[in-house]
Parts: sequence; C-alpha cells; structure tokens
Amino acid sequence: MSGNDNDQGKRHQSRMQRKKSVVDAAIERADRDQGLLLVLTGNGKGKSSSAFGMVARALGHGMKVGVAQFIKGRSDTGEEAFFRRQADVTWHVLGEGFTWETQNLARDTETAQRGWAVAREMLRDPSLGLVVLDELTYPIKYGWLDIRAVLDDLAARPPMQHVVITGRAAPDALCAAADTVTGLDDFKHAFRAGIRAQPGVDL
Ligand code: ATP
Ligand code: MG
Repeated sequence: MSGNDNDQGKRHQSRMQRKKSVVDAAIERADRDQGLLLVLTGNGKGKSSSAFGMVARALGHGMKVGVAQFIKGRSDTGEEAFFRRQADVTWHVLGEGFTWETQNLARDTETAQRGWAVAREMLRDPSLGLVVLDELTYPIKYGWLDIRAVLDDLAARPPMQHVVITGRAAPDALCAAADTVTGLDDFKHAFRAGIRAQPGVDL
C-alpha cells in the first residue's frame, strides 16, 4: 500500500469515527416511544405502496392493522388481495370512486361521513397497532369531511397507535399535526409515456 493510500485510509477512518459519534448521540437522544402520525403526500408515485410496506412491517411484529381506503380507484389491487388474506388485517373500502367518476357532491359527502365513522372506530380500538387511512386527503380537500373533526379523532386515539395518511395535497393543518411528513416528487412517470398501470408496480 502506498503512503497516499494509507493517508486516505486514515482520513476516511477519522471521518467515519466523527460521523459515528454524531449518529450515536442522535440515537441516544431519541429515547421515547409513542404512536406516530405520518403523512405521505405529493404528486410522485409511492404514497400508498409505502403505507402498505408499513402494514407488512407491523404484521411482522405481530401487530394488528386496520386499513381504510377513502377513494376507491379500483378493486383489483395486489395489496387488497394479499392483505385481506391476513388474519390480523381489517380492510375497509369507504369511498366509492374518484370525484370525477361519481359527480355527485351530496352523495360523496354522505359516503365520506359514513366512512369517517368507520375510521373513527378504528382510531378508538387500542388493539390496532397501525391504522392506514389511504387517500384521506381528498375527502378533506373537497370539504366532505371537517378537518377539525378529523384532527380531534386523531388526537384522541390510543397513545401507542400509529396512523399513516396518504394522498396528494395534504392540508397544512394535517401536516402540522403529524410527526412525520414525507412529500414524494413526480420527476417522471411511465404513464405519461403511454404505459398503462402495471400489476405488481402500480396496482
Ligand atoms: P402507489 O399506490 O403506486 O404508491 P400513490 O399512492 O403515490 O401510488 P396515487 O395518487 O394514489 O399514488 O395513485 C395511484 C395510482 O396512480 C398508482 O397506480 C400509481 O402508479 C399511479 N400514479 C401515481 N403517481 C402518478 C403520477 N404522478 N402520474 C401518473 N400516475 C401516477
Ligand atoms: Mg395512493
């Protein structure tokens, strides 16, 4: 090994040592447990699939999971077929379809309110370790659900229950109430190149 390589190796080692002490200190500081509210928003792909990744994680830890889908885009998704087979998953479809499909405000509002009553039951069930409220941002955005009522019910949930909310254009008040907020960017999507939704990737 040349002297140069040796210097480089030592520099790398001391840089990594410094990094490790910073990381270790941060890990040491994070010493609390609590149920988290997560919001996955933005125009990029990956919101619902990330939420369902957390469902798999939670099940792996022996937790019970509730899923509520507020906008029913399609009934043939792989995640619904797979997770409905799991004994520890309760799966509710609470929406009827995209607003441009239903085209009926009164009916959409009524459907959303009935849906929220079901979601609220899950938020009151301490046996559920994780609750996914998929596409909840839309009924809030369209005014079918009152954001204050939603935030009150979220705040009153069991202290160790995690909740994941997905959907584009998450309202500011929801993001403010959340512990973790992730915005997914739409840099490129195959759909715009004329490729239809692919099983295993998009559904
Ligand atoms: P996914 O379920 O794949 O994680 P998502 O929840 O982030 O996607 P949604 O807005 O719920 O996105 O849309 C669901 C469907 O639309 C999926 O089939 C997804 O691949 C597709 N999709 C997501 N983002 C885009 C986009 N920017 N352009 C076109 N199609 C998209
Ligand atoms: Mg989605």
